[in-house]
Order: sequence, then C-alpha cells, then structure tokens
Amino acid sequence: MPSVYVETYGCQMNLADTELMLGHLSGHGYYRTDTPETADVILLNTCAIREHAEARVLGRLAELAGHKRRRPDLRLGVTGCMAQHLRARLAERAPYVDLLVGPDGYRRLPELLAAERGERDPYVGLRLDPAETYADLVAAREPGVRAWVTVMRGCDRFCTFCIVPYVRGRERSLPGPALVEEVRRLAALGTREIVFLGQTVNAYHDGGWDFAELLRRTAEVPGIARLRFTSPHPSDMSPRLIDAIADCPIVAPQLHLPVQSGSDRVLARMGRDYTVAAYEALVARLRQRRPGIALTTDVIVGFPGEDDTDFAATEALMHRIRYDAAFLFKYSPREGTRAFRWGDPVAADEKARRLQRLIALQESISAEINRALVGDEVEVLVEGPARRPAGWMAGRSPAMKTVVFAGPATPGELVRVRVETSTSHSLTGLALRG
Ligand code: SAM
Ligand code: SF4
Repeated sequence: MPSVYVETYGCQMNLADTELMLGHLSGHGYYRTDTPETADVILLNTCAIREHAEARVLGRLAELAGHKRRRPDLRLGVTGCMAQHLRARLAERAPYVDLLVGPDGYRRLPELLAAERGERDPYVGLRLDPAETYADLVAAREPGVRAWVTVMRGCDRFCTFCIVPYVRGRERSLPGPALVEEVRRLAALGTREIVFLGQTVNAYHDGGWDFAELLRRTAEVPGIARLRFTSPHPSDMSPRLIDAIADCPIVAPQLHLPVQSGSDRVLARMGRDYTVAAYEALVARLRQRRPGIALTTDVIVGFPGEDDTDFAATEALMHRIRYDAAFLFKYSPREGTRAFRWGDPVAADEKARRLQRLIALQESISAEINRALVGDEVEVLVEGPARRPAGWMAGRSPAMKTVVFAGPATPGELVRVRVETSTSHSLTGLALRG
C-alpha cells in the first residue's frame, strides 16, 4: 500500500482540508505516515495569504527535493492556495514538483497520483469549481476533544488586500442537515467541542438554513459541550445570528471578529464595507446580548496609504475595545489583488515599528484582562496533559483561553478551576472537586 505524508501550512481551513485529503486518499488505498523519509507521496498543503508563507514553502520544497533525488519514484505535490496562486511560476521555481492541486481539486488527487508524469509539466488540478463542497468525502480526523467542521468554502467579498477569493473561489455552503448529522457522528465518537469553519463563516446559507439556523440546530445535538465558529465577517453579523449567540448557552462566549483597521479611510480602501462606528456598535450589541463575551481580532498595519493618523486611530480603537487577543500582521502585497496596483509604499521599518507598537499594546491589554480573572472560577474543557509542569493538565476556558491546572482530570471532561496566576497568554489554577 502506498504511504502519504502531508505537511500543512496556514489557517485552520487548511488543516481541515488536509484531513479531507487524507480521508479521500485512504479510501483509495493510501495510508498516512508521519515522516517524509518513509513516504511514497509527499504533499505540502499551502497558504498564499502573505509572501512569508509562500517563501517558507519554497524553502521547504528545496529541502524535500533531496528525497526526490534519492528516490525518483517519490511523488512530491503542492496543494492548496499557493498552488492555485503561483501555478506556472511554482513549476518554474521548483521543477521537481510532480503535482499542483488547488483547493477545488482534491477529489482528483488519487487519479493524478496514479497517472504517469509527462516529460516536463507537473500534473495539475487547478480548476476552480463553484459547485465543489466535498460534502460526500469523509475526512480522516485526528481524534480529539475538538473537531473542526468546514461549513462553507470560498469567499465573495474581495477585500482589496486579500488573495482568498482568487485562490479559493466563490462562496458555497454545505447542506445544513448533513452538517448536523456529521456533528452527531462526531459526538458519538467523543467529540465535545465543534468549531465551524469558513472564510466568511457567518455568510453561510445552504438555500434553506442561514448560519443562525445552523447554530440553533447544532446546539440541540446531545454530547456537544461547546460550539464555536471562525471567522465571521462583521457585516454578516445579522440580528438573527446575534439572537442565536445570545440564546444558545453552548455557543461559546467568544468571537473572532476581524477589524483590520481603526481608520474609516483605510477600511474603505480595503473594501471592508463597514465603518469604525458600525463595528463598535456591533461590539456594544454583542457585549450587551452576551455579557462577558471574549473578543479577538485581526489587524493589518502598513496598508498602502496608511499614515500616522490612520495608525493612531487603530491604536485608539484597540484601547477602546480591549480585545482578549489579536493577530497582528504587516501588509504583504499579493499579486492579483486590487491593492497590488497601489504598491507597498509604507517603508518596511515603519511597518515593523507599527507592528511592534500594536503587539506591545495588545500584550498589556491581554495581561490586564487575564489578571482580572485571578480568583475567579472557570469551566475548563480538558484536552490532555500540560506540556509543563509534569503531571498537570491543560484545557480551554469558554473564552478559549488556555488553562493549565493541577489535579487529575480526563480529556473531554468539564472541570471547574480556580484561577491562581495569569500571563498575557494563559491562566493557571487548581481544579475544584465536589
Ligand atoms: N476571512 C477572514 C476575514 O475576513 O476576517 C480572514 C481570512 S485571512 C486567512 C486571515 C487574516 O489575514 C485577515 O483577517 C487579514 O488580517 C490577514 N491578511 C489577509 N491578506 C493579507 C495581506 N495581503 N497582508 C497581510 N495580512 C493579510
Ligand atoms: Fe479575504 Fe476579505 Fe474574504 Fe476575509 S472576507 S477571506 S479578508 S476577501
């Protein structure tokens, strides 16, 4: 039986896609191996969101080329967003790559792997297919307390900086009743937490159910303790969805709500169709309807045209909102996007300075928020042994914070923990029994 080794780069959706590919390949006689040395097929499932992500993959491919020289029968493939984005150029830069398969081509993997490679060109599966949802494929999921379930694919928003709509294609949703069935199956296998995934997950609509309906129906599945989703777009946070978040206790009190910038001028140039005031009104409504909800965000610094005043507005917004955590990025021009035409006018050292300022600001806010939790009791969904100290356990709070605690506990169990110490990234405490 041939073996396959997959390395995954980028977001949670790519991890979910890797599970999908592995499931599909196992149905065609492949088994998974965890080392490239023993693999007949090596796949890099890639990300194209920033230049850095692509550079890492090119470096890794050059390393893996050595395996290919030693074992000419080995198949080396690049799958996912970068295969779609770079296409011909990737074949030029890494001519030893046998296979290029984009996010809508995974179904063809067994067929492409079984074919003989031509003299020069790698086999390609790069057609975007607006109907492809992989609804009938069974993912090879890593066993665990939490499972990620892709509910929609693609994106129709075309933010001016973003490559996603070009490499993942148009928005499409999986059928709601089948998703609920999938969650039921996962619950029967011991999954306690579900994370619904989509690039604009709250734009979900299967023709009958919207995202609010999907949440409400899933919340009824016995055995599931927590339900999360990522990433919602602020403009798709409908009143119906806010009602569902407020009404369903198993929907975790935590929301990743990417804002990207605190300046209206920059938001407009980014094509983010909301204003800072509208975003803050949404945050106020969420906090009113679901008290204590933890918020996280994404911010890009150094977008073309972002000046000191715009940047100061982003800092001010972060001071006002006080996110629990934030993913902070330097703008990276992506060929093919609208913003690419505007160049990259903010100097690299200025981008670095702005990024460092935001990191320092967010670290101090996160540390303050977590310090305020010392003395509180939090409910922890236990995931397994902590990396350290030895003998301690680790899990997540409802707000998705990592909690390390002393005391025996079993993965999948909900344990009450009294928080004793905190950092900007985690909480430490004691399990309360009885
Ligand atoms: N769909 C999600 C949304 O709209 O919030 C996020 C998708 S993207 C995978 C994750 C984050 O990467 C974005 O929220 C954005 O902050 C960042 N990002 C996307 N394109 C970027 C670029 N060209 N340069 C830097 N960061 C970028
Ligand atoms: Fe990219 Fe914008 Fe779509 Fe998010 S909503 S994936 S940032 S285009």
